[in-house]
Amino acid sequence: MSRAEPAALRRLAVLGHPVAHSRSPAMQNAALDSLGLGATWTYEAIDVAPEGFEQRVRAMAAAGFAGANVTVPHKAAALAVADAPSVSAREIGAANTLLFDGEAIAAENTDAPGLIAALPHSPEGSRALVFGAGGAARAVVWALVREGAEVEVWNRTHSRAAALCEDLGGRPNLKPEPASFDLIVNSTAVGLRGEDPFAELPLQPQDLGPGQIVIDMVYGDGPGRLLDAAARAGAQTVDGIEILDRQGAASLELWTGLEAPLEVMRDAARRG
Ligand code: NAP
Repeated sequence: MSRAEPAALRRLAVLGHPVAHSRSPAMQNAALDSLGLGATWTYEAIDVAPEGFEQRVRAMAAAGFAGANVTVPHKAAALAVADAPSVSAREIGAANTLLFDGEAIAAENTDAPGLIAALPHSPEGSRALVFGAGGAARAVVWALVREGAEVEVWNRTHSRAAALCEDLGGRPNLKPEPASFDLIVNSTAVGLRGEDPFAELPLQPQDLGPGQIVIDMVYGDGPGRLLDAAARAGAQTVDGIEILDRQGAASLELWTGLEAPLEVMRDAARRG
């Protein structure tokens, strides 16, 4: 009787530049172990410069990759390289998840459903103020508009907020009054390098209070100044790790077809 061949290793990765800081490998490998796939699936970080991105992606299926996450600065390029982008990835203009099937490349955006899944309740009917007009903000605005929120967008460079709203819906707002919003989302990079959100954004701690949900896409080792102030003021808070967890779970489910272990992933992402 012949012995069964060992199953071929199924590889996954996050592609970024830089990417060494990414918490996705720790989070996804913990998930694969927890699902009993640790011996047959791996997840690694691959640093690839923009000029090498397309060639690298096209070589991945032959190198045993089943899929990949894509992070800064490659999300628009990931959409462009795909043969089969999802409607949401096309509308947002960015993909953070690739799936390889032979030579065919499918692309999805799980940042948008990740945000909605991280909220304590549906945003339908809420007034939402979104700070930012980059890639993260595009997914946030697309998701909130689609869920029935009334969205206004402030960005440091106002013309980018106006262009984003033209594409995706929502209204640009040069001088928002944050205290009047139910949902406040920081999807700028403010806070990533220690910047003070109350100096860089049109927002003061006294604008925050009970009944609001405050979301900070930026994550670090702790809650950061924005979420600290929001929690002290009695608002509900959602941090960037929760959103990372939810988008990663959605990607993992696309690759494996299995239900993602959210808590295992969240714990691993928080440990870093
Ligand atoms: P991006 O495309 O480079 O956009 C950066 C945004 O931040 C722009 O709107 C920019 O405004 C704004 N900005 C930068 N510095 C600023 C400052 N000092 N004051 C005011 N606005 C400032 O980046 P991105 O991909 O959208 O990512 C934004 C953040 O979200 C990053 O920190 C990223 O790590 C985080 N993120 C988290 C998750 C998650 O899963 N938790 C997912 C995606 C992204 P201008 O247009 O005026 O330059």
